[in-house]
Amino acid sequence: MTDVTYSSTRGAGETLTASQAILNGLASDGGLYVPDHIPALSTDLDALARMDYRHVAFEILRLYLTDYTDDELRHCIDAAYDEKFDTEEIAPMAEAADAYFLELYHGATIAFKDMALSILPHLMTTAARKNNVDSEIVILTATSGDTGKAALAGFASVPGTRIIVFYPKDGVSPIQKQQMVTQQGDNTFVVGINGTFDNAQTGVKKLFADEELRGWMDEHGMRFSSANSINIGRLVPQIVYYVYAYTRLLKEERIKKGDPVNVVVPTGNFGNILAAYYAGQMGLPIAKLICASNENKVLYDFFSTGTYDRNREFILTSSPSMDILISSNLERLIYHICGNDASRCRTLMDLLSRTGRYDITDDMREQLAPFAGGFCDEELTLNTIRDIYESCGYLIDPHTAVAAGVYRSYRMKSGDKTPTVIASTASPYKFTGSVLRAIDPGYESADDFDKADRLYELSKISIPKAVSEIRTAPILHKTICEVDEMEKTVKEFLSR
Ligand SMILES: *Cc1c(COP(=O)(O)O)cnc(C)c1O
Repeated sequence: MTDVTYSSTRGAGETLTASQAILNGLASDGGLYVPDHIPALSTDLDALARMDYRHVAFEILRLYLTDYTDDELRHCIDAAYDEKFDTEEIAPMAEAADAYFLELYHGATIAFKDMALSILPHLMTTAARKNNVDSEIVILTATSGDTGKAALAGFASVPGTRIIVFYPKDGVSPIQKQQMVTQQGDNTFVVGINGTFDNAQTGVKKLFADEELRGWMDEHGMRFSSANSINIGRLVPQIVYYVYAYTRLLKEERIKKGDPVNVVVPTGNFGNILAAYYAGQMGLPIAKLICASNENKVLYDFFSTGTYDRNREFILTSSPSMDILISSNLERLIYHICGNDASRCRTLMDLLSRTGRYDITDDMREQLAPFAGGFCDEELTLNTIRDIYESCGYLIDPHTAVAAGVYRSYRMKSGDKTPTVIASTASPYKFTGSVLRAIDPGYESADDFDKADRLYELSKISIPKAVSEIRTAPILHKTICEVDEMEKTVKEFLSR
């Protein structure tokens, strides 16, 4: 097995091991770490079909994280995918509405972010040990709602780490917010910003690139890392569940070995779908990668025109975790489709930060052939929740509904009947307000927890612990700051 090394999409030159890339989070030139090659699946699909989630995870992680020992990986995997998940299968699949819904929300914070963020703290503390790093690791994270809580849950009270989360004050669901502001653990710090997720994400990237702040951190025996999907340690664990999903279909004889499947992913920062792309590049038989956007359809426009243009109105939707105009992980795809050429990638990213847009060339567009883009407006999102609930008795959240709505139009227009997996990214209980609006209008005025009770009456799906335990929990985090006060806020917390 050849080693996989990592370098920046913008070509700062250094070549790192996987553990170093995970520790750093973001490259010092502002680029994202990418593998020097995408390894091929080395285990037979039939053999993978006989393995449980943890074993599949091991077979995938060892291909990418080549400087970790087998024992280190097994330890991280066992610590992550345990009874924090409410099902042995970790990522079960349900069949409804002509598709297979891959439920990625059975972890501690009931969104798909748990799939990677339950293992990242273990990969990171192992990385620190391997690289003799003894400074305190400060996780700096921007969240559109779900990453924040999943990262807090993963890093709370982990020795040698602190975690700071910035969320858009008015841009998350009430339950998402309550989950974050009730977070316990002395090493946690949650801040609402007066701005959007894109403001928070851009601000965090600036702090990472700030040389002076880096020096200040150094003097204080600390260093930054990231739990956002820009960290390669998030991306790699996300590849696992696509391989797992395929091999479950194989095991249950829904498909034959080698049969292609489509994958539909409700997309925001482009991390989840990029993991599916990597799975395809490794040799997993994926036909179409269907990128589903909500009304912030910057990615749909990109796939249909070859122009990425974030100069547009930002819309708050019922799928807040996808309310994003700068999809960070797209940079990794851009790097790959321009022939792993960091200087071309850097030029486009410079254009994006200066003008808010860039165009890709025809030869790059050709390489986007596996992708199809679609988008779903608010009305169709709620209608999709209702239709699937009424016709199949299956309840989905608004993010998953964006994917299901896009898939329905795709299937109708294209006539493509390939078996299709839809990434189901959050529990309906995380977005009780929108889900009830779809299936039981007239319940608008109740608070989100009463809505959870009503949802239970209707669906008989038991209320997850993640919701019941925050209902009466004390609010521990009340800090709010302006976008231009992020650095000051960080320094204040770290000086405590
Ligand atoms: C984060 C998130 C998404 C978007 O995933 P990306 O990897 O950012 O594209 C979709 N749905 C939910 C529920 C999420 O939390």
